[in-house]
Amino acid sequence: MNAEIIAVGSELLTPHRLDTNSLHLTEELNALGIEVLRKCVVGDDRERLSEAVSAALARADLVILTGGLGPTEDDVTREAVAGALGRELVLHQPALERIQDRFRRFGRRMAENNRRQAYVVDGAELLPNERGTAPGQWIDVNGRVVMLLPGPPHELESIFRQQCLPRLQRAVPPSVIRTRFLRVAGMTESELDQLIAPVYTRYQNPATTILAAAGEIQVHLRARCGTTEEAECLLEEVCRQITPLLGDRVYTSTGEALEQCIGRLLLERGATVSAAESCTGGLLAERITGVAGSSNYFAGGFITYSDELKERLLGISAELLRSEGAVSEPAAREMALGCRRALGTTYALSVTGFAGPDGGTEANPVGTVYVGLASPDDCEVKRLRFPGDRTRIRSFAAQAAL
Ligand code: AMP
Ligand code: MG
Repeated sequence: MNAEIIAVGSELLTPHRLDTNSLHLTEELNALGIEVLRKCVVGDDRERLSEAVSAALARADLVILTGGLGPTEDDVTREAVAGALGRELVLHQPALERIQDRFRRFGRRMAENNRRQAYVVDGAELLPNERGTAPGQWIDVNGRVVMLLPGPPHELESIFRQQCLPRLQRAVPPSVIRTRFLRVAGMTESELDQLIAPVYTRYQNPATTILAAAGEIQVHLRARCGTTEEAECLLEEVCRQITPLLGDRVYTSTGEALEQCIGRLLLERGATVSAAESCTGGLLAERITGVAGSSNYFAGGFITYSDELKERLLGISAELLRSEGAVSEPAAREMALGCRRALGTTYALSVTGFAGPDGGTEANPVGTVYVGLASPDDCEVKRLRFPGDRTRIRSFAAQAAL
């Protein structure tokens, strides 16, 4: 089943008011497995509204209008829908009594134009409104449905939950939407797509979306099925083909952050880590220690921004810094080894690079970052090049180190 939403109100065409009802409705409909194919905002104009209703009804199984059910002359949703369907507006006596009763209960006199709210499109079922005077309407049109709901969000939400939801649940086959997010680090969006497109393009369901974020890519899989088991099964089928193609560059399918995964892996191995940072100035340690319980595997580290501190705290020779420079492969190696030696951790990371905007050399321009990893029997260094401004380069560097 699919739906279109028409938000009614001239105020929604100004920069001062936003149509939020359609967002709420879309969330509710998606949870039922109903897809919203299109939505629009139409001002308080009977003819334009009638046109919008006719067009929507020609395309969608379900057309939901919100707003324009008030008592005043500019509230024209009832008339516009009646016009589009070629039906009369008829006085709904019980609705009128409810409205009169509501005024009595609040000790107020009912204005004559409130009677307008008791008119319904011929053949409509009334959706009583406990929070306001305007009732909603549910209109069956040759197997399709047109729904009229009041504009005030708390009225709309309550009517939808209490009256529309149960009706829709009966009308649509049960369907669940299940999602899985693969988070991938260490490759570009196009590299990833080249690898996995041959798999995911074979499936309409689950639907696949690829989102690029700073230093990582997320693959979102969204399966819509009759049961949770079917949906999970389908997600598993696709993931089973995608993950081997990406290897250990996929670091989670449960939504964990990279630093959480690393923490978990270190704990599993009973290992510890420390960090010697130059251009990231503590960003790396900040991310690692953002995880609760990180004291179980993170010893601490050094922010060795100056050459002097690189010498004094990490034991790098002045000679090496002079001949190779602080942003170099040997410097990153010595930083990681020195950090590991000083703190006695299983692993030690190092980061040194040019974050810009000034600095850099011909061989190592701005954006060049060396990341080192000292482990019990090895020290690996990678040279990386990042685009962007200082903030982005620093955050890419911390991400790459992780
Ligand atoms: P109406 O039913 O058109 O008289 O609308 C009553 C009030 O509901 C308006 O003044 C708006 O504050 C609010 N409203 C109407 N439509 C929307 C919408 N699509 N999203 C959020 N608020 C709305
Ligand atoms: Mg209005």
